[in-house]
This record gives sequence, C-alpha cells and structure tokens, in this order.
Amino acid sequence: MMVFSVRNHRLFQADRQVDYRLTPNRTRRFTLKPEGIVVHDTAGRLDGESSVRWFLNPAAKASAHLVIDHDGGVVQMAPFNAKTWHAGRSTLNGRDGVNNFAIGIEIVNPGRLEPLGNGRYRAWFGEVYDDREYTIIEKSTPKHDFGGWMDYSSAQLAAVEAVCACLFAKYDLRWLWPHWKVSPGRKVDTNPLFPLFHLQAKLTGRESDDGNDGIMLANTNQRRWPSYHDNVIQVLPKGAAVEVLRSGWYRNGDEHARWFLVSSGGHEGWVHGSLIEV
Ligand SMILES: [Zn+2]
Repeated sequence: MMVFSVRNHRLFQADRQVDYRLTPNRTRRFTLKPEGIVVHDTAGRLDGESSVRWFLNPAAKASAHLVIDHDGGVVQMAPFNAKTWHAGRSTLNGRDGVNNFAIGIEIVNPGRLEPLGNGRYRAWFGEVYDDREYTIIEKSTPKHDFGGWMDYSSAQLAAVEAVCACLFAKYDLRWLWPHWKVSPGRKVDTNPLFPLFHLQAKLTGRESDDGNDGIMLANTNQRRWPSYHDNVIQVLPKGAAVEVLRSGWYRNGDEHARWFLVSSGGHEGWVHGSLIEV
C-alpha cells in the first residue's frame, strides 16, 4: 500500500520526499488555496521523463503540480500552494480560470490513438503501440472522438488514488474532475478508460461503488425524473459504473417500464431499465 503525506506543500511517500523538479512555469507567489483537483493526460510518450522535461521548459508555458508515470512513479513540479498552468481557458460552476483554485495532476498516457489495423495504433507524436503489448480499447463517448485509447496501468491508478486521497485530506478538497469537464469542447483528457466515477466515489466518501453497482449498456441519458421530458442531467457513457439507489415501474404514454435511480459523478438521476445491467 502506498502511503503519501504532505509537509510544507511537498509530497512524501513513506517518509521520503518524492522526486522534486521545480518548474519555472508557475506563479512565484504562494497564493493557491486548492479546492479540488483537475486530472489530465500528458498525451505524450510513456516515459514520464519526456513530459517532465517539457514542463521544465519555459517555452512550454505549461505545467502541473504532479506527473504520475505509467509505472506509478510520482514527480512533483511545484509546491501545492503555488499555481501551475495546466487547465488553460477553463470554467467550473461558473468560475473561470480553474488554475486559480485547483491542483493539477498529469497522468502519463499517449492520448487518442489512430487505429492502423492488425492491433496497431499510432499516437499523434508518431509512436506506434501494439495491442499485444498494451491494453488498447476502441471507443467513442460524448466527450471523446472515436479512436484507440490506452488503459492506465494498475500501478498508475493506485498511485493516482493514493495521492488524491492524501491531498483531499490535507487540503479539505471537495471535487476531482478531468480536464474535459472544465474545458469542454477544447480538451478530451482524461481518456474514456479513466475510472472517474469510481475515483470520485472514493474521494468524496460516498458509498463505495463496489457492490450494489450498475453498468451502463449504452450511452445513456441520466434524467431528473423517470420520463422522456426535457430533463437530462448528463450522459452516462457506455460501460460506466454507477451506484444504484432504487428502482420503480413508471408509465410514459403506452410504455410501462422499470427505471433506476442512480448516482454518478455526484449527480443523482433516473436511467431507463433497458440500458443498465444490475
Ligand atoms: Zn489537460
């Protein structure tokens, strides 16, 4: 088990400070009071070092507080009380400039991959990955164009979860969202395989999403009421795990169908029973 802690806004793992490579791409004053975390994909090579070097380059004008490598290694690039430049033009709950109130975590992942056939996929930077070596899933979501998407390694996801849990406790954080949430239409990271709902449930202390779970069988409208009126809260992507709260039979016109009240990403709402496996 990975045990992280924070001292003087620096991250420690089992009492040793994690690799600390201070980026010039940050504010010099210590004015960040983080309220949440924005997670990103590096959309770069699988060795995290190339992403770390990019964030050390003043020309990049980009950075994040942490880079979490494919093998689970963690590099810190700025203290958590300095603002870093990860989200760019962004909005959350009507507030612009999410860098001003969020910690940024870059997760090493190549981003969208172009299918070449025969289980081979090409990243935007030219590298070709083979699905005999990596788990690569072809899919699209309402947030992501069709493509191949590389799964995160279990060591990497374990590190993400442990680090985020530590930061939530230390800074009393309230939310975690991917870049696509705060820069909609402009950014697609993290990728469709990122276990967002699972992680949010763990971090916000909601009921564990292990156990009384449902899996969405298709991209599904989650609705404020069990009806087809104009009441969509969000689209739950095919394959998403949701927490089932209760179910009931409801009539809409000629249809008499079972609906499920589910919780996902902090939103409670109804999905049609034909679209969920429980
Ligand atoms: Zn991003």
